Amino acid sequence: MAKSAVAKAKPEKAAKPPKAKMRAAEVISGACLCGGVEIETDAPVFWAWHDHSAGSRRAHGAAYATYVGCWKSKVRVARGEKLLSRFEDEARSQMRTFCSRCGTPVMFTRGGSPKWVNIPRALFAGRTGREAKYHVAIGELQDWAYLGAPVGPLKGYPGVMVEKARKAPRAKAGGLFEV
Ligand SMILES: [Zn+2]
Repeated sequence: MAKSAVAKAKPEKAAKPPKAKMRAAEVISGACLCGGVEIETDAPVFWAWHDHSAGSRRAHGAAYATYVGCWKSKVRVARGEKLLSRFEDEARSQMRTFCSRCGTPVMFTRGGSPKWVNIPRALFAGRTGREAKYHVAIGELQDWAYLGAPVGPLKGYPGVMVEKARKAPRAKAGGLFEV
């Protein structure tokens, strides 16, 4: 039973059901931190990827950013258009759109791909129809990024966990990462 369900789910390539119906049922909505901006697109998104490059790292204030890539034509700002501010990163030929009230990154476009809009995956509370399994600039992965090492409670600090086992020896790992 489970097997047939998986087999059915896989070939998502615009199956047979009426398109209009599918589209209406698959609109997904994301929001910024303050809730002022809402952005919509259609699921499944085209792809989902992790961006380890310095630009995204800084813009998000995080080890890396995870995006869902969508056709520009399928992205709609449902609410808060007036709250949106843009930063044009001329050096990288990129444009970053964010909520001017809470600072949440909302859209990211790259000069070489004008038909694409990348939306931070984290804006969507639910599923987007794609697994984030692609990486861009993986060579820039930071050695302080959390890679899923086992954690356990830190004594005396409720809610704080500490990594139990050390990762690969630092001396060895250091050579793998660019700064
Ligand atoms: Zn906001």
